Amino acid sequence: MAIDLVSRAAWGARAPRGSYSRLTSTRGVKVHYTGGRVDPAIVDDHAKCVAMVKSIQNFHMDGNGWMDTGYSMIACPHRKVFVGRGPHNLPAANGAGLNSGHYAVLGLVGNSGLVTPPDGLLDAILDAVEYLRDKGGAGKEIKGHRDGYSTDCPGDALYAWVRKGAPRPGGGGQQPDPGSTPKWPGRLLKYPPIMRGEDVRTWQRQMARLGYAIEADGAYGPKSKAVCVTFQKDRRLDPDGIVGPLTWNAAFASAARSATASPAAVPTSDAALIADPAANADPAPAADAAPVAEPEASSEAAPPAEPARSEPDTPGA
Ligand SMILES: [Zn+2]
Ligand SMILES: [Zn+2]
Repeated sequence: MAIDLVSRAAWGARAPRGSYSRLTSTRGVKVHYTGGRVDPAIVDDHAKCVAMVKSIQNFHMDGNGWMDTGYSMIACPHRKVFVGRGPHNLPAANGAGLNSGHYAVLGLVGNSGLVTPPDGLLDAILDAVEYLRDKGGAGKEIKGHRDGYSTDCPGDALYAWVRKGAPRPGGGGQQPDPGSTPKWPGRLLKYPPIMRGEDVRTWQRQMARLGYAIEADGAYGPKSKAVCVTFQKDRRLDPDGIVGPLTWNAAFASAARSATASPAAVPTSDAALIADPAANADPAPAADAAPVAEPEASSEAAPPAEPARSEPDTPGA
């Protein structure tokens, strides 16, 4: 399911005072909650979400003296994602010195009233995370505000979910319809070097859905290659660890059919279909899964764009 964005114009955001500090990338995202009471009636009334997002912006600008809302994006129970500062802009909500490392995503739950995050809100947080990965160079980390900062944010319920690895509610709300086979993207997914993209993520999601242990992080590295080899062996394809059209189609076809694929009389190697010498190369074994080099965040020593204030999560008095 595509992200349901609420643009700044749509929620009536005030213009930022000044220019954002730019970020090339981050290590990931930190999850926040409001820290105050959230009226449980917001679950039945999205207009109340909009009002809350506006009041938080007012508090951050008029109370904290910040140039804008402190959050990169804000997720509501209706699986909508409000654009805050957005991708590639330094947030302010993580605390001084911690903003260049992670984007800040707020979920509209609090420490009283609406405390337990509804599924739609968890999905919206993950939609925001994926958006920030795709559009903002966010790395794979999903952490809580309290990681590395003295606060109870994002509250026990959201933090427990973060610690579980931030799973999709119901196990996979963002996956394509079963039976629909996405077209092979037209490039070989292989490693090394690490390849990134939505096509990688689409394939990884499908492999996870088939039960392989893989994280849909959009980066085709040693783990993805190992899963690919296992899958190819399972399907009696040439286990070269490269996702070409055969391997791609086998992955998606197996969702539509039952697991009794008969590979007889079809070519078993993607290389047979593709005149790409690299497909026939024998890549070095991924024995030692070298950690993926995370891009370095910009220096924390850079002049802070925001005054260092304490916990900015509480929208009201
Ligand atoms: Zn927070
Ligand atoms: Zn809403």
